[in-house]
Amino acid sequence: MLSGTSQLSRRDLLAMIGTLAGSAAMYQAMTTLGFAEESPYKGPIKLDGDPKGASVLILGAGLAGMVAAYELAKVGYKVQILEYREKAGGRCWTIRGGDKYTELGGFEQDCEFDEGLYINPGPWRIPYHHHAVLDYCKRLGVKLEAFVQVNHNAYLHSAKAFGGKPQRYRHINSDFNGHVAELLSKVTKQGGLDQTVSTEDREKLLEALQSWGALDENYAYVAGDHSSERRGFEVDPGGGQMPIAKPSQPIGLTDIVQSGLWSNLSIGNLYEYQTTMLQPVGGMDMIAKAFEREVGEMIRYNSKIISIDQDDKSVTVRYEDSQKGGEPQTATADWCICTVPFSILSQIEIKVSPEMKAAIENLPYAAAVKVGLQFKRRFWEEDEHIYGGISFTDLPNTLISYPSTDYHSPGKGVLLGAYSWEAWAYEFTSLPPEQRVQKALEYGAQIHPQYKDEFDNGVSVGWHRVPWTLGCYGEWTEEKRKEHYQAASSIDGRIAMAGEHISYIPAWMEGAILSSLDAIGRLHQRVVSG
Ligand SMILES: Cc1cc2nc3c(=O)[nH]c(=O)nc-3n(C[C@H](O)[C@H](O)[C@H](O)COP(=O)(O)OP(=O)(O)OC[C@H]3O[C@@H](n4cnc5c(N)ncnc54)[C@H](O)[C@@H]3O)c2cc1C
Repeated sequence: MLSGTSQLSRRDLLAMIGTLAGSAAMYQAMTTLGFAEESPYKGPIKLDGDPKGASVLILGAGLAGMVAAYELAKVGYKVQILEYREKAGGRCWTIRGGDKYTELGGFEQDCEFDEGLYINPGPWRIPYHHHAVLDYCKRLGVKLEAFVQVNHNAYLHSAKAFGGKPQRYRHINSDFNGHVAELLSKVTKQGGLDQTVSTEDREKLLEALQSWGALDENYAYVAGDHSSERRGFEVDPGGGQMPIAKPSQPIGLTDIVQSGLWSNLSIGNLYEYQTTMLQPVGGMDMIAKAFEREVGEMIRYNSKIISIDQDDKSVTVRYEDSQKGGEPQTATADWCICTVPFSILSQIEIKVSPEMKAAIENLPYAAAVKVGLQFKRRFWEEDEHIYGGISFTDLPNTLISYPSTDYHSPGKGVLLGAYSWEAWAYEFTSLPPEQRVQKALEYGAQIHPQYKDEFDNGVSVGWHRVPWTLGCYGEWTEEKRKEHYQAASSIDGRIAMAGEHISYIPAWMEGAILSSLDAIGRLHQRVVSG
């Protein structure tokens, strides 16, 4: 008999089987939106030909801006960068103890993390196939370490399932696979697949299902060594005269299906999140700092661009001091690479074609919030044996991500306590920063009761309230791409746009770098042939 399937409704079964196609369907949807593309980066850009002293003004010192500066200066362009902030990197940003951050509307936060601890409010992980980011890390000496995406010992949590008790990923994952394998083998043996599977393949399929689902010799998924070797034992094997190992009891299929916890099982199978993911040692801004070492002298910081003009000979930009205001100043160059996000650029006077103007004005940006929490000790490691990885929940904080570094270090630890999108992100930022942290604590305590005693301090970044991006990333739809992408990515007179929003990999640093390399490649062609 199938374990735990007696009350399984047809609807539940369909929902569950649907999840088998889930990752493929999600991948399809993400591809349509421009995510999940492989990077076509084939190595360092070659810019042949003499630019004969041409000058380029770069707007914004995020990764797109700094890549352009780095490569153009190397082949002889005169480069100047104007940057709103007091430092470079843009969204490639790390917050550490002692950092101050003021968001739109004036809320000010002082980060009080201990030395060596940090939160990456923006980018936090790099897929192994983001070849351009990784190549620049290599060339600029940025040390990398593994970022743990999937942790079998982290939790899947729903406030509405299992009495609100978090379940270990390995339990849900093993039991879900096991039950599906049992169901499919039953159908196979009953001849339900005879129309589609040949007799020869049927035996092989049964063998595969037995192996994949940890089924016993009767093709059943039941408590025993096979299932416990996946989901873990109730009493683990020990040494000497320690108690004999005891298999654990799988969770019934109905409970798993109805919990909805299966919905987070396939995230780590998505191409973007497959092993091995990477992160810079010491914080994501190590990448920004490495570029800044190369191009820092070209950057004029605290410079807020207020208008962009061009004629057939040059580009002229007006800017003011972003801290003190005062009389606007001007900068002029032969060409301009503009990496200012369209969320900001749509509020700046700019002389471009009507098509480009329409593109700038029609790209919405996503809202997102991250909350970093410092605790007095790394209780997730000490008490729960969770080393890196992510727990998922259906509460508004959506996840908890544990640090993938410095395991077992004594003293305090920082985890990502919330990463929320759209409506939930707006809910968070409707509160002052201290209350956002309290909310993240309230949600997280339902997974880790230790939160209450161990909390130390926290910090939050709501991206739609970051004054220099006003959003997390450019949210292209298929229709918007058809209408505006060509114009947005064309060189408009003497101005070329670059940045994550001018790519098919939005919301990733790879997209920002590839778009920059593509823009400077085309611009250079124009300069040397003109
Ligand atoms: C929450 C979040 C999570 C993310 N996660 C990941 C991840 O895990 N992995 C990954 O690879 N990517 C991730 N990303 C995406 C990545 O951060 C971006 O794709 C990339 O950093 C964008 O670089 P950019 O140069 O295009 O833009 P930016 O970094 O935004 O640079 C634009 C620059 O323009 C400046 N600027 C703006 N307005 C003005 C003005 N008026 N005058 C002068 N300068 C101005 C800004 O200060 C900024 O420095 C994430 C982003 C966010 C927000």
